[in-house]
Amino acid sequence: MINSNTKIVALIGNPSRHSLSPKIQNYFIESYNINAVYLVFEFPESNLEEAFYGAEKLGFKGLNVTMPYKEDVCKMVKKLDKSSYLTKSVNTVKFLEKSQISVGYNTDVDGFLKSLEDKNFDWNDKVCLVIGAGGAAKSAVYGILKNPVKKLYLYNRTTKKIQEMMNIFKNISGKRTEVVHSLNSLKNEYDKIDLIVNCTPIGMDIKACKSIMPIPDGWNLEGKFIFDMVYNPVETKFIKKGIKDGATIIRGIDMLVNQAIFSFNIWFNVMPDAAGIRKIPLDNI
Ligand code: NAP
Repeated sequence: MINSNTKIVALIGNPSRHSLSPKIQNYFIESYNINAVYLVFEFPESNLEEAFYGAEKLGFKGLNVTMPYKEDVCKMVKKLDKSSYLTKSVNTVKFLEKSQISVGYNTDVDGFLKSLEDKNFDWNDKVCLVIGAGGAAKSAVYGILKNPVKKLYLYNRTTKKIQEMMNIFKNISGKRTEVVHSLNSLKNEYDKIDLIVNCTPIGMDIKACKSIMPIPDGWNLEGKFIFDMVYNPVETKFIKKGIKDGATIIRGIDMLVNQAIFSFNIWFNVMPDAAGIRKIPLDNI
């Protein structure tokens, strides 16, 4: 029950009202009997600084941050963990009461890795392809390069952001990373690719994206791991093709739940068991 000791955690972003995070986080809060509530705030960029420092001054326990504020919040927190420092992206903030310090984290990296671990993906000598070069792609690329993969192909429709990404990760990448300027140019290497990760909104439930796929239609996905970060709809055209072809699929909703368990642990020092929430029909989360 909400009372004068109830802790507040909240999602900030714009848009953010459509987010599934309140359902996931409030489910965990109830399951672990924690005196807290998870709310959503949506506001324009001009209010971001006041909102962030206001939350800190009001004694919020922490925040989740979504588009388009992940990079801006990176500059507002006092400390960054390694993932948020490298990816320049914060999706979770903890306000430390005693020291009055704000710490930024990027649990998208952990959520990405756990989602593959849940499907028993073995990283040794694997060939991976990441499509996209925004915030989500940086989390995937960092997660991939932390592992002993043989090769990582990167593709984005425009080249500027992809060069930025190459620069960020050049120290951990070595010679493993290669930029491709068209997916069709992978025609000969395609058979050897083990993991394909879509980090663009292609497939999302918006007019320009819903009916298209991030890969060429003719690619056979049998035996591959197909990871689609898009979670609305739960089953994108890419995921449906993966199922039809006999791929192992990882849906955006799996990653959304997994990044949420790491955020929850940062705020409340409890790693929630995600099994309970997975029993709820996905569309109802
Ligand atoms: P972002 O920073 O805005 O980056 C978007 C990327 O997608 C850019 O590389 C952009 O290319 C590319 N792109 C955008 N529209 C495209 C189109 N019509 N065709 C081809 N490429 C296009 O966004 P983000 O934060 O990385 O998020 C990307 C997706 O991942 C979103 O759908 C988001 O909801 C999802 N996501 C899911 C989770 C999860 O937990 N499941 C977590 C984070 C993000 P340009 O550089 O050329 O503009």
